[in-house]
Amino acid sequence: RLSDISTIRAVMEKNGFSFSKALGQNFLINPSVCPRMAEMSGAADCAGAIEVGPGIGVLTYELSQVSKKVVTIELDKRLLPVLDETLADCDNVKVINDDVMKIDLHRVIEEEFNGEEVAVCANLPYYITSPVIMKLLEDRLPITSITVMVQKEAAERLCAQPGTRECGAVSAAVQYYAEPEILFEVSRGSFMPAPNVDSAVIQLRIRKEPPVDVHDEALFFRVIRAAFAQRRKTAVNSISNTLHMSKQQVTDAFEQAGVRANSRAEALTLPEFAAVVNQLTD
Ligand code: SAM
Repeated sequence: RLSDISTIRAVMEKNGFSFSKALGQNFLINPSVCPRMAEMSGAADCAGAIEVGPGIGVLTYELSQVSKKVVTIELDKRLLPVLDETLADCDNVKVINDDVMKIDLHRVIEEEFNGEEVAVCANLPYYITSPVIMKLLEDRLPITSITVMVQKEAAERLCAQPGTRECGAVSAAVQYYAEPEILFEVSRGSFMPAPNVDSAVIQLRIRKEPPVDVHDEALFFRVIRAAFAQRRKTAVNSISNTLHMSKQQVTDAFEQAGVRANSRAEALTLPEFAAVVNQLTD
């Protein structure tokens, strides 16, 4: 089994492979996690799965068992011969050697899946968790859901509801595009090498329509980021300082939107952000 420590050690030794901390290489050694992730990803019910960072292929293998096709994107070319070996029996897997942050995923889905809807499932490299998730969401790809392992703290932030203390700019953005949920937690001992923190698998189910009506999406996200930039200040002050807008203009927008002007960003709901931004736009 690929998640056995002895198998991982043998495969690595044979290929002269050593872990790269910089690339966030913590490989799963808990055999129950990947089958669960693959099952819950919904890859079985759509055109297939896209994975980011297969490592030695533990999750890739499980995804290949439940879906028609798996395309997996790995940056570290030292892993290519390893994957050739570990996935030799999986003829529905394609490995692409590229950087997930640079690759054109629209093109990948067009070429590999005829543009049909796919599920994303991955044990993400932790140094780029939020950028990868934001790219997947902002690119408006034909994807049904994103089921990913992230650090527990990141999971809580990404899945936080606007209007609660844990909420940040990223949580608000996630809520705009998706319905997030923490599926289950995974202890640090489930990885080799073990990281310093526990992890969790989250699922973002992509919304067909945004939950609020926003007239200028780019401004909406700029205002949300600005509101959280100085968390301890009121949202009005943080927005006006960060975006160099007059405090009066921002206060007026809050009042016209019926939102208390002394609120902090963490107290604002998505409809309230939308109402404020629509006042600033109109
Ligand atoms: N899926 C494997 C597992 O669960 O054992 C490995 C997960 S490991 C946390 C993250 C993987 O992402 C590593 O294989 C790493 O080389 C790869 N990776 C790191 N940065 C990447 C990038 N920018 N694009 C694609 N893959 C990347």
